[in-house]
Amino acid sequence: MIVSSPSGAGKTTLTRRLLSELPQLEFSVSYTTRPIRPGEVDHRDYHFVSPEQFDEMVQRGEFAEHAWVHSNRYGTAQAPVEAALANGRDVIFDVDWQGGAALSARWPLDSLKVFILPPDLKTLESRLRQRATDDPKIIDRRLAKAIEELEHYSEYQHLIVNDDLERAYTVLRAVYLTRRYGTVDRPDVPFALGDLARVVEANRATAPDAHARRLVGRG
Ligand code: ADP
Ligand code: 5GP
Repeated sequence: MIVSSPSGAGKTTLTRRLLSELPQLEFSVSYTTRPIRPGEVDHRDYHFVSPEQFDEMVQRGEFAEHAWVHSNRYGTAQAPVEAALANGRDVIFDVDWQGGAALSARWPLDSLKVFILPPDLKTLESRLRQRATDDPKIIDRRLAKAIEELEHYSEYQHLIVNDDLERAYTVLRAVYLTRRYGTVDRPDVPFALGDLARVVEANRATAPDAHARRLVGRG
């Protein structure tokens, strides 16, 4: 499951919660050259590496995809993903639109793409500032990049507006579980799949694509 959004829309908050609820899911820990933030843990949130170490991994062909985002390099190692899929586990990727495009091209049958939208741009800004983990100059750069990221919303199968956290989480959970197990209730699955399918439909009925178009200024 590939989850993308502009910085600050809430994808870390939402995916962490899903990971803590569902043990068959694992998080793809990316490699990055950006500095570690307060509260982050090396090898849990990212593998923090130097530009030289990153380059060596590129040369050795170890990345499934890698990209420049906000002037830093980010990449997804291929081997842990292959291992997880071979063991019947599912993987969550928190990557930008470039990573999303590359990963879904590499695993076209397995991929599920979800885009998290902010309620509006002012809220996005205040969440980034309230997170207070980046320098104000970096926050300005991330905001300028937000529209660029938002413009790729239509490449994603599901759009979720993260207005109310509980609602957004309920939809994300339903999107994942119905893709994993289908929409018809089964005795071997401890989730009410029919109800979850209705949650996914109700989300579509709110027309999140129209919301995304408004955010990027085309409607
Ligand atoms: P991202 O991973 O997309 O950059 P985060 O998950 O780090 O975003 O969220 C950015 C900030 O917004 C965090 O401080 C988080 O606690 C807060 N936040 C996330 N979702 C909501 C929400 N629905 N309502 C209010 N605050 C939220
Ligand atoms: P942050 O620095 O806020 O953690 O992440 C910045 C952006 O980089 C986010 O959009 C995040 O999804 C993206 N990102 C994180 N890891 C990867 C990765 O491995 N590949 C790509 N392409 N993007 C990534």
